Amino acid sequence: MPSHPRFIVDSMLGHVARWLRLLGYDTLYFRKVDDWKLIKISKEEDRILITRDLSLYRRARKQGLRAFFVEDPNVEDVLAELSKRFGVELEFHKDDTRCPHCNTRLAYTTSIAEIAHKVSKPITLRYKEFWVCPLCKKVYWQGTHWKSINQVLEGAKIKKAKLISKVSISERKIEISEVGEKIEHT
Ligand SMILES: [Zn+2]
Repeated sequence: MPSHPRFIVDSMLGHVARWLRLLGYDTLYFRKVDDWKLIKISKEEDRILITRDLSLYRRARKQGLRAFFVEDPNVEDVLAELSKRFGVELEFHKDDTRCPHCNTRLAYTTSIAEIAHKVSKPITLRYKEFWVCPLCKKVYWQGTHWKSINQVLEGAKIKKAKLISKVSISERKIEISEVGEKIEHT
């Protein structure tokens, strides 16, 4: 999908990168990288910069880049904010997801033959759906951790709804105060 925003995440936010990839968003992450390089890539590849570093965030904004400063690295909060600001969808799509490890788009398969040499027998017996990374060759399935993935996404949706209602309350306050001023003037 070309309208999907793309991201670049600083080295302190590996967990955010993994989540964005899982949700299908093209997200770059390096364990070690200089600030100037993050800014350069963000500019050249039109990627939204996500950072915990306030001075880096300010530098990026000064250069007209889209950026998000992470105050609280709690993943539900970050996802809620990214969803509100940049339209990140808080849904998992099985045919549009990326390798949390290397950012490559995953291939969905229900063919046990395709993955049997990669995973243990009990896994092939228990699960029907798998995702294979064409680059790093890792295989994924919706294991026991899946429950917590859904919990995080549900949590992020609730937090997003709260963020939106906060905004509309403050907007309403402005409207009310404008009405008040108008009354005073007449
Ligand atoms: Zn991979």
